[in-house]
Amino acid sequence: METREFKAESKRLLDMMIHSIYTHKEIFLRELISNASDAIDKLYFKSLTDDKIGLGKDDFVIWLTADKDAKTLKIADNGIGMTEEELENNLGTIANSGSFKFKNENKLDEDSQIIGQFGVGFYSAFMVAKKVTVISKAYGSDKAYKWESEGVDGYTISETDKESTGTEIILEMLDDTDDENYSDFLDQYRLKSLVKKYSDYIRFPVKMEMTHSRPKEMTEEEKNANKTPEYEDYIEVETLNSMIPLWKKNKTELKDEDYKHFYTEKFYDYSEPLRYAHVKNEGMPEYNALLYIPSKAPFDYYSKEYEKGLQLYSNGVLIMDKCADLLPDYFSFVKGLVDSEDLSLNISREMLQHDRQLKNIAKSIEKTITSELKKMLKNDREKYEEFWKAFGLQIKYGIYCTYGMNKDKLQDLLMFTSSKEKKFVTLDEYVTGMREEQKFIYYATGDTVERIEQLPQTELVKDNGFEILYLTDNVDEFAVKTLMKYKDKEFKSVSADDLGLENSEKQEEIKAKEEENAGLLKELSDALGGKVSKVVLSQRLKSHPVCLTSEGEISLEMEKVLNSMPTDQKVKANRVLEINPEHEIFGKLKSMNESGDKEKLGKYAKLLYSQALLIEGMNIENPVEFSNLICELM
Ligand code: ADP
Repeated sequence: METREFKAESKRLLDMMIHSIYTHKEIFLRELISNASDAIDKLYFKSLTDDKIGLGKDDFVIWLTADKDAKTLKIADNGIGMTEEELENNLGTIANSGSFKFKNENKLDEDSQIIGQFGVGFYSAFMVAKKVTVISKAYGSDKAYKWESEGVDGYTISETDKESTGTEIILEMLDDTDDENYSDFLDQYRLKSLVKKYSDYIRFPVKMEMTHSRPKEMTEEEKNANKTPEYEDYIEVETLNSMIPLWKKNKTELKDEDYKHFYTEKFYDYSEPLRYAHVKNEGMPEYNALLYIPSKAPFDYYSKEYEKGLQLYSNGVLIMDKCADLLPDYFSFVKGLVDSEDLSLNISREMLQHDRQLKNIAKSIEKTITSELKKMLKNDREKYEEFWKAFGLQIKYGIYCTYGMNKDKLQDLLMFTSSKEKKFVTLDEYVTGMREEQKFIYYATGDTVERIEQLPQTELVKDNGFEILYLTDNVDEFAVKTLMKYKDKEFKSVSADDLGLENSEKQEEIKAKEEENAGLLKELSDALGGKVSKVVLSQRLKSHPVCLTSEGEISLEMEKVLNSMPTDQKVKANRVLEINPEHEIFGKLKSMNESGDKEKLGKYAKLLYSQALLIEGMNIENPVEFSNLICELM
């Protein structure tokens, strides 16, 4: 028997194939099963017009046989098989795809299920095997042939015996090394899980004998003697793949539970999803998708470890477990999968050749998610609020992090607690409920709703009968500032100097008072030594003595948030101390100033400023001094 040599270039190519095309050795099984499925598909295709074949759709099968002692794994199919010439051409020439030719010659279009196209997948077997033997008998031929190779040095072909049409691929596994346990690939459970992972939707059954163990039958005597049962092994043939992808079934065939069950199984979530969508996009891009909105954020959701992405299938074969490009960051919570025949894969089928198709699919998916969320908001408020509590933060980040680029898409998904009933309202609901004379969308910031409720700054706005949005997450004010407006209504902090309230009379009055007391206000401001940019008389306070607001771009809340970030850059809001001219304390300050008691006035200024800080939920700069001052006055 003569050994035929690989051509020199083929040797290098094969070496490259084995060592550098694939990142995961385990995909060899996916490739060999895909080949078997293709071979069956070809024979099945012929059987449609040729009854001599005598096989119905249910007779086709792919068999896996692992032999731990011999360290071999066999993948057998009863597909079309290969002639001597085909063995030579298909397996002796790298990058020659018989399947690709078959598809072209038989003018099979996208509807065909044939997977092979590059003519390289077969060689991935050498990533795990030191020797590969292919025994094949082609349909219509009475001779069978054996192709054998130990890798780059070449291959032999010889005649052999094989009873039925089809192909057997026998891998003699490599010896285990420190890095890789090749014998793992002979383990039944590992094989089963690999089939589930990559080849679950191959449309012919992938079968394997599984060894299980059960307690041996006991005699009455043994039972009575309370003997511990002995175990025995038994063998059962299992079909490892589920074959029909749920998403390819008709929507009318599927029940709510089918979708939910699929989700909890596939994405390892104990809780049912809040919502799902089954998408069958017939136009460009053509794809099927199952999308799920989970009911809870995974524990690592708001951490760096969380990986977003949808599973990507091409013709039912898993290409990527988490295709990140299919989801924008603000929808990173969505789980699901996409199956498309429109993808052009790269040679290892681990990546895509052109991302344009992928981009189009991603765009279409984003639209679906947005519209599903809006439907949920409209028709199932309770669920939407549950969703919002779990993932609202991500949407708000979405508005802020993209500099408002996505605001049109996302702003109608937003919700904030409102002062009216302490319930969530959307911006649309807020604006619809605005009073005619109301110019702005008012908001107040703080750690919790309860704390914001107590902020003195909210009094005046509330007294005017205007609703206030309570912003309790760090990102909230940034998001609102990025939006700037909603339906032409500007957002306005209750701490802003110009609140747009219609009481110019009062304004005039306070202006006059401020002028009158300019000396006192300056005195107070000086006593605080640059801690505040000014001290003013407040228009917004009703019962409280003081509050702290800011002027300029950076608010107190933003200062708090930005300074809590782990960077060296610190910012400072321009603080304004507001004093309530109607409050008793103001009278005291006035008389202190008149009697020239500057020292005492200074102490009061510090006390009032510290109080204002505390109300704002900020740290006071010198707690000991504050405490001493209080004692002194007491
Ligand atoms: P691809 O599957 O992308 O075509 P492969 O390198 O995996 O590339 O296979 C090369 C060719 O060998 C296939 O196109 C097919 O013609 C042939 N082939 C591989 N495995 C089988 C099989 N089990 N039965 C019949 N033909 C096969």
